[in-house]
Amino acid sequence: MIHYKSKAEIELMRESSLLVSEALALVAAAIKPGVTTMQLDKIAEEFIRDNKATASFKGYHGFPFTCCISVNDAVVHGFPNEDELKNGDLISVDVGVFKNGFHGDSAYTFAIGEISDELKQLMRVTKDSLYKGIEKAVHGNRVGDIAYAIQDYTERQHGYGVVRDLVGHGLGRSLHEEPQVPNFGKRGTGAKLKEGMTIAIEPMINLGAKDVFHDEDGWTIRTADGKPAAHYEHDICVQKGKADILSSFTSIEAAEKANTNLCSDY
Ligand code: MG
Ligand code: MG
Repeated sequence: MIHYKSKAEIELMRESSLLVSEALALVAAAIKPGVTTMQLDKIAEEFIRDNKATASFKGYHGFPFTCCISVNDAVVHGFPNEDELKNGDLISVDVGVFKNGFHGDSAYTFAIGEISDELKQLMRVTKDSLYKGIEKAVHGNRVGDIAYAIQDYTERQHGYGVVRDLVGHGLGRSLHEEPQVPNFGKRGTGAKLKEGMTIAIEPMINLGAKDVFHDEDGWTIRTADGKPAAHYEHDICVQKGKADILSSFTSIEAAEKANTNLCSDY
């Protein structure tokens, strides 16, 4: 069943979502060659704890960390580890926060140093596809309208692979609620979008083919062809006319721009 949120509940969710955004901004400021993804995980973990919240992912079905950090051919659900990041790496960071009874869940992809135009386009198109999906997340539309908008832009217009095995989702008192929000599908199909629905929209887009596999760690999802992937995620509340975006990339983008180790001109 779909849980519709009251105005008061939406404000609590906004607080959780914005806390995730601030955590991602702190991570953005710390990314540089030589830093490990485990160090980035600790930064997010401390920030969440200092804000009297808990990390949604830690312990979720046994996931052992605060962040999912997925580098290069890892699409999502990557384990933070002791490997040092280097120039040219594409790093997707996904963070969830639980506070006041509600989850926030947002993700952003960063690149270190100079990257190819091909990778820049992958980042730009994936981020833009998120907003194209959000444009369709209005009262009266259907989940398939969001799905179609993302797939049309990334797959049909740019030739990228849209991951089929993982999808966006309803969000609230649980990290994953109904409905599922795929990044592929047909217009006019699926659950009807109604005012007060809160969903996480999260295109996972591969530079190459759509196929992925589970790494031997049991969690990390990697592209089958070894090519890189990008992932951006916002939490939104369905409204009449225009979705209310509960998370924010503003401070993340500012940190990305201010960090000279990161590529921000994509
Ligand atoms: Mg997420
Ligand atoms: Mg999510």
